[in-house]
Amino acid sequence: MKVEERKKLHLGEYPTPLEYMGNLTKKYGKGKLYIKRDDIAGPAFGGNKTRKLEYIMQEAVEEGYTAMLTVGGPQTNHGKTTVAAAVKLGLKPILVLGGKAPDYLSGNLTLDAMMGADIVFAGDDMPGAVKATIERYEKQGDKVYNLPAGGTAMTGVAGYIMAVPEIMKQLEEQNIHPKYLVCALGSMGTYGGLNLGVKYFNAPFKVVGVPVSPPPADKAEQVAKFMNEVSDFYGMGIHTEAADLLINNGPADAPYSGEEYNKPDPITRKYMFEIARAEGIILDPTYTGKAFRGFLDMVEKGIIDGDVIFLHTGGATAVWTKEHLDDMQQELFDNCQISEFGK
Ligand SMILES: *Cc1c(COP(=O)(O)O)cnc(C)c1O
Repeated sequence: MKVEERKKLHLGEYPTPLEYMGNLTKKYGKGKLYIKRDDIAGPAFGGNKTRKLEYIMQEAVEEGYTAMLTVGGPQTNHGKTTVAAAVKLGLKPILVLGGKAPDYLSGNLTLDAMMGADIVFAGDDMPGAVKATIERYEKQGDKVYNLPAGGTAMTGVAGYIMAVPEIMKQLEEQNIHPKYLVCALGSMGTYGGLNLGVKYFNAPFKVVGVPVSPPPADKAEQVAKFMNEVSDFYGMGIHTEAADLLINNGPADAPYSGEEYNKPDPITRKYMFEIARAEGIILDPTYTGKAFRGFLDMVEKGIIDGDVIFLHTGGATAVWTKEHLDDMQQELFDNCQISEFGK
């Protein structure tokens, strides 16, 4: 079945807005800067995982699954959105997360707990914990859908392939002609899907990926291989070589990804404060803050020129994780006018 004919469930509000960032455009004095607001699609604050989950949950419901299990880091946005989708559709939400159980819940873990997820911390044995958890549910008669990290199952990639015609329609309606769209690059579903969509639907812009952790030397090969598998899965007939892809992690001595995945980082926060103060838009410290750092740096240096779009993939609920809050307290106090009347 062709990718555009695949069935999906309604979980998010689409099209998400494509907004002009007037203040940042004025400040940087280059082409016009736009933002695509996949952060507000819902459910449970949404984010990029919703587009994937519309296809995945369709399959889960159609095939009679009664429980939805997925995996990730303790603060996984993908896990949070999957729990929301499962709850809404009446499937049991199960998360198997890396590491030890915390004694304080913050950020997405607060939301996972509020939505009633069964949260299993895997210690250092993720495969063992997943297997045992699935068995525990199967024993009580459940059929458990085992969804990989980031929702990057073949079924889910359709979400970002099909985001491309949505964006193309908005470009036509708003009469804008961006040359580039920049997004975070994590488990590849978003970046890979968009790139395939651009080729398949002949979109007039290129997609630039900003890695959210220091990428291995063969990252582009890995993405091309993944895209070729997806193309085969959907019968799209698109062959991608590593050299076709635009992936940019910035200068070697100041990579956009920072030192490592999810590590609190003051330069990323500088860019988060920049867009928050200019446009009232909240990014997250793990994905979109890093991608936006890359986006603005590439605009300033003219690496991407003309009108450009930044894809907001969500994640702002991570601002309220304990480690990120603790790490930015001083900067917030230093950079904000806080006073008490009468003192
Ligand atoms: C998961 C995630 C990404 C990365 O998307 P992939 O499809 O895994 O590459 C980017 N931004 C946010 C906020 C995410 O939660």
